[in-house]
Amino acid sequence: MSRKVLIAGNWKMNGLMADSQALAKEIAVKVKALRPNAEVLVCPPFTLLTTVKKALRGSKVMLGAQDCSTFDKGAHTGDVSPIQLKDAGCDYVILGHSERRTDHKESSTLVKAKAESALNAGLKVIICIGETLDERKAGKALEVTSKQIKASVPSMSTASNTVIAYEPVWAIGTGQTATPDDAEEVHAHVRKVLAEKLGKGVATRMRILYGGSMKPANAADLLAKEDIDGGLIGGASLKAADFMEIISKVK
Ligand code: PEP
Repeated sequence: MSRKVLIAGNWKMNGLMADSQALAKEIAVKVKALRPNAEVLVCPPFTLLTTVKKALRGSKVMLGAQDCSTFDKGAHTGDVSPIQLKDAGCDYVILGHSERRTDHKESSTLVKAKAESALNAGLKVIICIGETLDERKAGKALEVTSKQIKASVPSMSTASNTVIAYEPVWAIGTGQTATPDDAEEVHAHVRKVLAEKLGKGVATRMRILYGGSMKPANAADLLAKEDIDGGLIGGASLKAADFMEIISKVK
């Protein structure tokens, strides 16, 4: 089963108007020239969505946000609704990133509710899961990721509207990467859990990205694994050259 690779850049809370516009333009131009065998997505902070959208005009690079509200509108100061993200030109929204699960105490139940709202607004979702270092050391990586999948992924998820990102928390922004074999073990397991939840047909077609210090030096080995269908990339997505080098590793 061939799944289209997705390479997604998570810019986190980085960037101001001028540098982000330049970064997005450079990525757009280079992706157009490279014509990779992959879909490419960038996810800037809320304040930069419109600027980046304009900079990407005429290219196939897609736009995503990093979070959304469960609500469509109303008295929810500081929140941004999925309908507003769709209106701003977003294709995707990242949900349940470990930094949100930690910094904002987001539970899998909340992540699922956000995913349902986002899907209802016509957005595609990238649902993040992953174990902490203590959980890995205790041999609980598969148990933890199973629980997160079961509780975070809505039953309305399909292979075309939902992407899973396996991001071991200990590998995010640390320079420490899961070995391709360790990552593949979790990815294959996640696909099994998805099959139990959504059916084998959906699970076989659903993309599962790896995230956690993916960079030009390790991308090819990770992307070569059977169940790794792309990457969610933080630090290395902030430099066009590194991001493009990762994209160029897609076969
Ligand atoms: C991320 O933010 O999702 C991520 C994987 O970050 P980094 O690539 O910097 O580890």
